[in-house]
Parts: sequence; structure tokens; C-alpha cells
Amino acid sequence: MSVPQPDRRKCPLCGKPADTRFRPFCSKRCADLDLAHWLRGDYAIPARAAPDDEEDGASSSEKPNEAPED
Ligand SMILES: [Zn+2]
Repeated sequence: MSVPQPDRRKCPLCGKPADTRFRPFCSKRCADLDLAHWLRGDYAIPARAAPDDEEDGASSSEKPNEAPED
């Protein structure tokens, strides 16, 4: 089985065989759609809020509860 695979990339948007004119997409429609996603920022890495681990960090030591100094 050493058949050279032709460029059988699939459209990342709809999965159809890509058209060489619109690679890696299958059509101008999908290419435009992808571009629209980019322009809208859909592919932007979502800015994750810093995880609130403050409670976890205090678990190492005994909780400084107010001891009744009496
Ligand atoms: Zn497509």
C-alpha cells in the first residue's frame, strides 16, 4: 500500500474535500466563514480569569481562628 495520497485535505469547517482554489477550505463560502470567525475573534484565546486558589493556599497551616485568650 504505497499509493501516494493526493491532497485529500478536508475542509476544517464542514469536512468536505478541500478545493485547491480555496485550500484548506472546500469553497469560498467556507473560507469566508473562517475569515469571519477570525474577524469576530471567535478563535481568540479566551482570557481566563486567575483561579481563586487563596482558600487552597491557606490549608497548609492551621486556620488562624480567633482563640479565646482568656
Ligand atoms: Zn467547507
